[in-house]
Amino acid sequence: MPRDEETESGVKARYADESYPVDSWVDGETVTNDIDESFDFVVVGTGAAGAVAAHTLTCAGFSVAMVEEGPWIKTREVGEDVYGVFKRGMRDGATQAIEGRAFMPLLQGRAVGGSTLVNSAIAWRTPADVLHDWSKDFGLGDTLSEEALAPHFDALERDLSVKSVDDDVLGENNASLLVEADKRAIQANAIKRYEKGCRGEARCLTGCPHGAKQGMNVSYVPWSLAKGARLFSSCRVDKVIVENGRAIGVLATTTHVFRARATRKRVHLRARHGVFVAASTIQTPNVLRRSGLRSRDIGEHFQAHPGIACGGVMSSPVHMEFGASQGAESTHFRKTDRFKLETISMPPELCAARMPGIGTELMDKLDRYPNVAVWAVQLRAEAKGTVRKGWGGRDVVNLTLTKNDLTRARTALGLMARMMFDHGAEEIWPGVYGLPSVMTSADQVALIDDAPLDPRAYSFVATHLFGASRMGPDPRSSVVGLDFATHEAKNLFVVDSSVFPTNLGVNPQHSIMAIARCAAERVAANAKRSAVA
Ligand SMILES: Cc1cc2nc3c(=O)[nH]c(=O)nc-3n(C[C@H](O)[C@H](O)[C@H](O)COP(=O)(O)OP(=O)(O)OC[C@H]3O[C@@H](n4cnc5c(N)ncnc54)[C@H](O)[C@@H]3O)c2cc1C
Ligand code: SF4
Repeated sequence: MPRDEETESGVKARYADESYPVDSWVDGETVTNDIDESFDFVVVGTGAAGAVAAHTLTCAGFSVAMVEEGPWIKTREVGEDVYGVFKRGMRDGATQAIEGRAFMPLLQGRAVGGSTLVNSAIAWRTPADVLHDWSKDFGLGDTLSEEALAPHFDALERDLSVKSVDDDVLGENNASLLVEADKRAIQANAIKRYEKGCRGEARCLTGCPHGAKQGMNVSYVPWSLAKGARLFSSCRVDKVIVENGRAIGVLATTTHVFRARATRKRVHLRARHGVFVAASTIQTPNVLRRSGLRSRDIGEHFQAHPGIACGGVMSSPVHMEFGASQGAESTHFRKTDRFKLETISMPPELCAARMPGIGTELMDKLDRYPNVAVWAVQLRAEAKGTVRKGWGGRDVVNLTLTKNDLTRARTALGLMARMMFDHGAEEIWPGVYGLPSVMTSADQVALIDDAPLDPRAYSFVATHLFGASRMGPDPRSSVVGLDFATHEAKNLFVVDSSVFPTNLGVNPQHSIMAIARCAAERVAANAKRSAVA
């Protein structure tokens, strides 16, 4: 665990998010005057993509401003209060949804660290078959080959301490999936995560109270500040200023989570070399539109990995409140059936959202929380959707899962239900409308196999998001070129998963960070070359 040390301000720092030069952080919630400053590069967003890009540019010797719409929630502020973190740290207080034939909750962080503040820190290198498809089917050639990305994955894994969940913090929910998979000869393993000193408190989804999870808020953001970058948090970028085909800065407005009418200040950050947009698959397309870009492909080809969970009450204690939040997985079916199995341990207040029933029935289920297990499916959906601009500047996301997607989801749910009964479940909760909300015998699982192929029947949640400003060599079918610059403005770079031509079938943070690092390194090298020329 981190040891206390003296900071420049003399404050004792226990966590990495308390150790940075005093003047390097501008908190938009407390700003009293308009701001006008100049940098080499401005990076929009401090999530997986933005924080890594900013760090790479800073290490290359450039002056960098990181601009983040949400607040910086410090490790010491993270407690057991789910509402507090969701309200302050998640977009729309975690009430955002994908529209389509069915509504699907859409979870995103809106804070320093972006979604890495509230994610499970699962690390997966981009599968070779995906990179091969991007190269051949989408014209990316060698831009993002395995060889090109390998050194970036190596560096990220060193920096963020990627390792498999230790046995002593595995916990029963995670261990039981491994046991059941083994019985059926399904390949499964303990998950690799970004963590230093995990205590297995199963709270990754509401922020790690010990600074053990290596989210961007406790890693690349403070590390960038220590190397000379500046952070402007609670500052929403309204637009990138593009003049004569060049990005010359951003205009932002200060924000406040609880005081919507707080006096807003104008933040003008000038960029000598370029602007990186890393506002995520959902926000990036509308940042580009607000900046005057007109490509018809902006907002198209959106994809996701919708997740769906199956809960069960086991005959013996599980104690989901102990163990890595997500500690076991199987990619056995990734290529054949486009789904991945994962465990997902939740504290009682989050788990309640997945329990069937209301009133006394819900109270009974909560009483049984010590024996509850929850496993989930991440579906590599083939469905494609859109991200558009809605009323009041809202991001409107549309996606309707296909019949193939639903068939695969139901196969995966049925498999998990059977595995849970084999593991001694007394009851399972499939969460499919039209089916019994509680199933008490393995015989009933056949009902899941015949569940309706209607997206409205399922309780999907989307957290893995791709496309909507995708990369390609042809400006007629892509937004961003092979040099990460938009086709319309040469030094306006997009480096988050909105540039991905497709989804992956594995968790995306590692791919996002490696690609952002690769992009920033190439842009930095070009900027140095042109300075010399
Ligand atoms: C609950 C949850 C669990 C997950 N678990 C995992 C996991 O275990 N492993 C994994 O690989 N992936 C996981 N993911 C997905 C992963 O976290 C995301 O794919 C990744 O963080 C996306 O990186 P990003 O930089 O594109 O966006 P984000 O990390 O979401 O960051 C984007 C940032 O940009 C900011 N921003 C947006 N618009 C503006 C603007 N106009 N001005 C200024 N700032 C702006 C946002 O506020 C946000 O902070 C999870 C996601 C969630 C929500
Ligand atoms: S499981 Fe708990 S201690 Fe471990 S990284 Fe997640 S929140 Fe932190």
